Amino acid sequence: MVADLIAERTAAPFAPAACPRLVVKVGSALLVDPAGAIRREWLASLVADVAGRVKAGQQVAIVSSGAIALGARRLGLAKGGRASLEDAQAAAATGQIALAGTWASLLHDHGLTAAQMLLTLDDLEDRRRYLNAAATLDRLLKLGVVPIINENDSVATEEIRFGDNDRLAARVAGAAMAGGVILLSDVDGLYTANPVTDPAATLIPRVEHIAAIEHMADRHSASGMGSGGMVAKVEAARIAVAAGAHLAIASGHGDHALARFAATGHGTIFVAATGAPARKAWLRGGLTARGTIHVDAGACAALKEGRSLLAAGATRVEGRFARGDLVVLAGPDARPIARGLAEYGDADAVLIVGRRSDEHEALLGYAPRSALVHRNHMALL
Ligand code: GLU
Repeated sequence: MVADLIAERTAAPFAPAACPRLVVKVGSALLVDPAGAIRREWLASLVADVAGRVKAGQQVAIVSSGAIALGARRLGLAKGGRASLEDAQAAAATGQIALAGTWASLLHDHGLTAAQMLLTLDDLEDRRRYLNAAATLDRLLKLGVVPIINENDSVATEEIRFGDNDRLAARVAGAAMAGGVILLSDVDGLYTANPVTDPAATLIPRVEHIAAIEHMADRHSASGMGSGGMVAKVEAARIAVAAGAHLAIASGHGDHALARFAATGHGTIFVAATGAPARKAWLRGGLTARGTIHVDAGACAALKEGRSLLAAGATRVEGRFARGDLVVLAGPDARPIARGLAEYGDADAVLIVGRRSDEHEALLGYAPRSALVHRNHMALL
């Protein structure tokens, strides 16, 4: 059975040409040495790889761990800052400054601008906040900025934590509509058994069906520094693949880890089964729509070309919905043509229906969004 999971080794799905938007996650054990200092030279070589991709036209978002490990050292906390949630939160708050600062300065050396985003689980699960985070990410990436993302550990309590950045990276990929996620780790991929304890264990280069390999993940993280482990990585793969993104687990050891992965394809690649349509499948089915936005013939044609719904093209709003709720978009003949997440609640949508964008701020009393329903959060029926 394992044999049919194995195919050619190639990192081509993550190359700039195939994957316009990429999320790269970097684990704590790579970024921070055992004494708790940042591995600046190693990071500089990784940043050079990132800069090469950005210059080749790829938009890259980084999910960086390491705040807790770094902060723990500065504060002299036991157990790498993970003895209690309060310790971890204090360590994260302290370490995040150095972490983000180092990324920013190394990116600056290549003429690139960094931006920091600290997210909690809620920010990506709650649909209103999801839209905010997605819009910010989209804007940053289009501006050519490299977002440096971490969990907002200093405020996230146990119940609302991702707890590991592997799943955070997968969620970020979904929110950013990225085509690929690379988890750079202290392990070089998923093995048929635990390679530390079982000499017969072999690396699985390619996974088409996650269900077939689930039992192979082991809870252990070799370094004990991060909180990922293989279970979290497989879980991240499940999230990424469902969102239409390929996910790779690759070794971050040694300099130029990204370039090496690109050259060798060495690692485990989880293949996004159905590509782009998968990420919109949930919009088409499942969820109950809370309202309907009627659109004119011009907007109807624009939607069919894959464009966002602008308020100017809407004629009428029906139902009670909040920002982030699912709505149906109906054409002049009242037939549903698309479903998507509303950028405005019904009360505000009513104010701007049929009105040009330059009128929105005065009508709403706040800086308007770019669309009534954004194309990224819309599926044609
Ligand atoms: N957010 C944590 C940190 O910055 C890392 C979580 C993880 O190890 O995946 O230290």
